[in-house]
Order: sequence, then structure tokens, then C-alpha cells
Amino acid sequence: MSNVLNTFLDENLLALQAQGLYNEIDPVEGANGPIIKVGGKQLVNLSSNNYLGLATNDELKKIAQDTIASYGVGAGAVRTINGTLDLHVKLEETLAKFKGTEAAISYQSGFNCNMAAISAVMDKNDAILSDALNHASIIDGCRLSKAKIIPFAHADMDDLRAKAKDATESGLYNKVMVITDGVFSMDGDIAKLPEIVEIAKEFDLITYVDDAHGSGVTGKGAGTVKHFGLQHDIDFQIGTLSKAIGVVGGYVAGKKNLIDWLKVRSRPFLFSTALPPGDVAAITRAVEMIMESTELHDKLWENGQYLKDGLAKLGFNIGDSETPITPCIIGEEKLTQQFSKRLLEEGVYAKAIVFPTVPKGTGRVRNMPTAAHTKEMLDEALAIYEKVGRELEVIK
Ligand SMILES: *Cc1c(COP(=O)(O)O)cnc(C)c1O
Repeated sequence: MSNVLNTFLDENLLALQAQGLYNEIDPVEGANGPIIKVGGKQLVNLSSNNYLGLATNDELKKIAQDTIASYGVGAGAVRTINGTLDLHVKLEETLAKFKGTEAAISYQSGFNCNMAAISAVMDKNDAILSDALNHASIIDGCRLSKAKIIPFAHADMDDLRAKAKDATESGLYNKVMVITDGVFSMDGDIAKLPEIVEIAKEFDLITYVDDAHGSGVTGKGAGTVKHFGLQHDIDFQIGTLSKAIGVVGGYVAGKKNLIDWLKVRSRPFLFSTALPPGDVAAITRAVEMIMESTELHDKLWENGQYLKDGLAKLGFNIGDSETPITPCIIGEEKLTQQFSKRLLEEGVYAKAIVFPTVPKGTGRVRNMPTAAHTKEMLDEALAIYEKVGRELEVIK
């Protein structure tokens, strides 16, 4: 190894460790279901994005296995050579139906999708108005496009309007886009899409909503854009196939001309191998299941409400989430870390999220209940929360 690299790595790893910022990863020994095994210990899992429990659904496992038996494990090429299988076409038709758009295009991940879609349309002569709390992949996708990035204060529509006015009237930019998460995953709040659409119409902004945490969860499962009935007003509906859908991948849904353009200009579609067939078949069925029935969706919300009510009754601060995402706000960073560690020792896996991911003094343990949890599992988690909360004097 080069001496320069070796010194760089040693110094920086030691510095992270000294500051307590080096993240140790605990492997899950088995499926990422409502109960997980970590270090040989069974834990109530409140940290996955497997909202509907589809990651471990038996019907989807069977479909993936059967498809692998006939198509093999890999797609064999990028989409534009001969990696487009009939399965990908069916998936994209299903996604367009799911999102209420003319067409859709799939990518290898939600992260990849933001790398692909933004820079296919925006360039150095353009500007992007970006919510201050947007996901890291949106931020990176914006940077990759070389457009001017203009952050607006989180969910602050007056700030967005003022900045949209300045950007469009400045004459500096050819195109201006507004980009937001549909559901913000740290607090569980929903983007103010009706107001965003109104501002976008006033200033002819391109609209881009990344609904990674909304699909399967909001809008009776159809996501945040449909929740507000805005599927004809949002240009880019982005989603992930890795959270509520339970598998892996990402997509853009929108007008046919947009999707046609992405198929010839988005680089991960052109230069990275297509999603594998077993995954594609399982994803397609998962999306159909979400369209056919709200049973899992309803169970998710019921469990979310149950957990929220239980934590609030114990005296915890659970913030203002509008979705099943349930933050338990502890405050001080060290105490938050200690709280999460004690939960783990007692039998609950719920991750501490602290500065710089969230503002200083608002450290929280974030809980992600799913449709696969039973009331007994949630009661067990609540009993452990009560014990640890009293012990660390977070509640009386
Ligand atoms: C999780 C997330 C992604 C990344 O999705 P993956 O499919 O896991 O790559 C992208 N955008 C947002 C808003 C997310 O929350």
C-alpha cells in the first residue's frame, strides 16, 4: 500500500474512533424480519425499512426462486445491450400503473436512480432548489449534474417561493428544478406537495419528488404524490424498490417522453448491469400486491399508531411524525447513544441518530414498526423502553 494512503487511513480511522464516531456494524444472522438475531441474541427489530414485511414474504420468495430456475441469477448485460428481459418491461408497466403515469424506468437502486435522473436533465446552466433535509443521494445527484444548488429551509414554502422567484427572474439559468423527499425519514413528516406544485406552476419549475419512504406507506400504499392526487403535476416520481417493496432497486415514473429520454441519457441505465431476474419478478409481484390490497398497509399504520401511543403514554417525546416512522427524541448525543445501547442489551434493536444527521440536541432513537410486527412484539419493546427510560431518567 502507498505510504500516503496508509497514513491517511490510519490517522483518520483513529480520529473517528477517538471521537466515538466510528460506526461498528453488527451483522444480522438470518432474515431481516420483525425479530432479528444479532450476536446470537434475539431482538425486536425496529430499524429496518421493510415496512410491509415483504422482504421475507413467502409468495415473493417462491416467485424469485422459480424465476431464478428459468432465467438464472443475473441479467447478463446492461439494459441497452441485451440486459432488458421481458421481466423488466413488465415491471416498468406495473410501476407506471402503480404511480398513475404514462411510463416508468427501473434502476439498480434508489441511490443510483438519483445519480441517473437528475444529471440526465439538469446541467451547469440550470439551478436546483433543494430542501435542506433532502436525502444524501439527492444531494449527490444534484452535485453530479453541476447545476447551481440552492437549498431552501426545510418545508419552508415562503423560502422556496422567494428563492424560486429569484432564480427564475435572475436570467442566469435555463431550467430550474425543485426537489424534495416525499417523506422525511428522520422525523416522519410529509412534504407539502400541494404548495410545492402551486409554486412550481407559478415559476415553471421542474418538479422532482423522491418518495423512497412514501411508496407502500402513504396514499393507501401508492405513495405521497397520489396521496395528494398530484400524479399529473409532478414531473419526476422517484421511488425505491428496497424499502416497502422489500427487494432492491429504484425507479422514475413520469411522462413517456421523460422516460424515453432517461433510457438514452441516464448513465447507470446505459453503463451498469440491469436488475437480476429473480428480483425483478419478486418486485413486480410486490407492487401488484400493494395495488390489490391495503391489508399490509393498514396493519403497518395500526402498528405505527400502537407504538406511538405506547411511547407517548410512557412520557417519551415522539415528535410530530405523520407516518409510521416513530422517533423517540432523547436530546443530548451521548445519552441518546447510551439509550440505544441499553435497548439493545435488553432486547430492542433501534438505532440512535444524532448530530450531524439531525440538529444538535435532538438526538433520537428512531423506530420503524412494520406490518410484520405482532402486538406482543411491540408490547415487549414498550416494556423495555419503560425500563431503560426510567433507568436513564428520560421518563419519570
Ligand atoms: C433510502 C433512500 C434512497 C436510497 O434507496 P436505495 O434503494 O436504498 O438505494 C434514496 N432516496 C431516499 C429519499 C431514501 O430515503
